[in-house]
Amino acid sequence: MTTYNAPVEEMMFLFNNLKDNKNYNEIEKFKEINSDLVKDILEQAAKINQEVVHPLAKIGDENPCIYENGIVRSPPGFKEAYARFINDGWTSLSCDPKYGGQGMPKTVSTFFEEMLSSASLSFKLYSELSIGAYNCILHHADEKIKDVFLPKIVEGKWSGTMCLTESQCGTDLGLIKTKAVKQKDSSFLLTGQKIFITSGDHDLTENIIHLVLAKIPGGPDGTKGISLFLVPKFNVNNDGSIGARNGVNTLSIESKMGIKGSPTCVLNFDNAKGFLIGQENKGLSSMFTMMNLERIIVGIQGLGISETAYQNSLAYAKERKQGKSNNNKDNKTDEIIKHADIRRSLLNMKSIIEGQRSLAFWLSQQIDVSLNHTNDEIRKSADDLVSLITPVVKSFFTDMGTEITNEAIQIFGGYGYTKDQGIEQLYRDNRITPIYEGTNSVQAIDLVFRKVLNNKILSNFISIIKNEIKEKNGKSELQRFSKILENNIKLLEEFAKWLEDKNKDGKDDVSSACNDFLKVLGYISLAYSWFKITKVSLDKLGENKNFYEEKINTANYYYDKILPRVEAHYKSAKTGSDYIMKAKFN
Ligand SMILES: Cc1cc2nc3c(=O)[nH]c(=O)nc-3n(C[C@H](O)[C@H](O)[C@H](O)COP(=O)(O)OP(=O)(O)OC[C@H]3O[C@@H](n4cnc5c(N)ncnc54)[C@H](O)[C@@H]3O)c2cc1C
Repeated sequence: MTTYNAPVEEMMFLFNNLKDNKNYNEIEKFKEINSDLVKDILEQAAKINQEVVHPLAKIGDENPCIYENGIVRSPPGFKEAYARFINDGWTSLSCDPKYGGQGMPKTVSTFFEEMLSSASLSFKLYSELSIGAYNCILHHADEKIKDVFLPKIVEGKWSGTMCLTESQCGTDLGLIKTKAVKQKDSSFLLTGQKIFITSGDHDLTENIIHLVLAKIPGGPDGTKGISLFLVPKFNVNNDGSIGARNGVNTLSIESKMGIKGSPTCVLNFDNAKGFLIGQENKGLSSMFTMMNLERIIVGIQGLGISETAYQNSLAYAKERKQGKSNNNKDNKTDEIIKHADIRRSLLNMKSIIEGQRSLAFWLSQQIDVSLNHTNDEIRKSADDLVSLITPVVKSFFTDMGTEITNEAIQIFGGYGYTKDQGIEQLYRDNRITPIYEGTNSVQAIDLVFRKVLNNKILSNFISIIKNEIKEKNGKSELQRFSKILENNIKLLEEFAKWLEDKNKDGKDDVSSACNDFLKVLGYISLAYSWFKITKVSLDKLGENKNFYEEKINTANYYYDKILPRVEAHYKSAKTGSDYIMKAKFN
């Protein structure tokens, strides 16, 4: 079985040193969220994730959810752990105090999301969509619905789902067939079938609140005719108490490669009573509130699983003895951590994970600004940056999760491939993250066509990096980093220009380059994060030599060994799509 120790010191390093967004620091209500409070929260979070949640990872994998006589049962121990989880208030961490939440900023709740992903993704998924449902209801529902549903969701007694996918439509939601017919009392009756619904049914909560995309007959075709509905598993009485069962039933659950402790359900809606959220036919944009935040959280899932893979690989490499390293002096067998190739592999993991955590912290500050700053213009510009980096975090972090968990299996050798050590489970559990919440390729297409071409958001992001280089270039040790980062920024600008030119008469060239572009932006965003970490580490070297020297060494590794991948992606993309589109696939 794997072990997990929450990286509280790493998280506090970011909170204490890289909370550097002036606009974030102006948000009045977060001024009292100080370092002592955050450390206290993270230590409590570490405790429940290490002691209660992590042991469930293996249990859930070996005892998947069960579907029997129309009822879904969670794996042993999940119910008790969930009761403790909500009793300790973890579902309410970032929610509005008006509905019983603790009002913590994303800077803090994102750390918690990472820990929970590291501990057990299956267990996390029972409450994860509740946060999405909470955000969607908060931003788009009327006050009456908010007052009835939000306090129960915040408390964790009711959970949420996101019902988009149908058998004929995953990526292309314009093909949705579920229909919603308006009733005299303004409610709707929904009929149709949704598949692959995470936590669509289970035994952990009293009620399940489905947020369902459906079409109102007579509306426009395609995505323009989609509306969003709230459909509870049990109807809710006027006083908020639970009423009769609604017309939603679980037909089956999926048998899957990973996250076996999380039920993935086929739900049948048969004249199920629902309530319109937002305006008719504008459901997709309301659902995007849920999906955008959810996409970032899926990226954090990739980061969290990578951290567990790294920690266990490191521990194993320090213990496992095989062969003799180049510097062997005593002629005894060495631990594999002494071999340069294993060290390289561990540093691949470490440099990507720590860079990602720092980028996620930067993004969390932007989200907090976009939701809470009093100045409209500042909120809008932070929101633009969030929309640019969201597909990067979703796709890059989860693809790197696949690379890192794969590398972990390799470090464990045969013991990584067999089940006992729990390493292959990390690979299997992570493998869904590049697929759900919009596949990674579709994220890359969204990044290029909607956020980069004909848009100024990328140049705003680039200006932030250039300013950082200009402002902090004083120390001679930083100059090597500045130079390399500047060259990469130049390449990023060239790549964006190439996309713009090609978009006029070579759309397939652009489409086939989207994944490369997303990777390039991902690696450079991490280089920006490492630049800032290095600056702090150089300044603070005297305070904790061990910690900061290691940071500077890892930054050097990232710049020398990982960042050059950018050039390969650009070079490959620029060759265009001739051979791709010519292939006959006979
Ligand atoms: C375990 C699990 C949990 C899930 N949870 C939920 C949930 O809670 N709620 C929910 O609604 N759904 C959920 N899903 C569904 C998930 O979001 C979809 O599987 C995903 O969006 C992809 O849709 P699809 O499977 O139909 O693939 P398709 O859309 O058929 O895609 C197949 C391939 O084609 C590519 N592709 C598609 N369109 C394009 C295009 N325009 N350009 C280029 N390439 C394209 C895709 O990238 C992919 O590689 C879940 C799925 C799983 C397996």
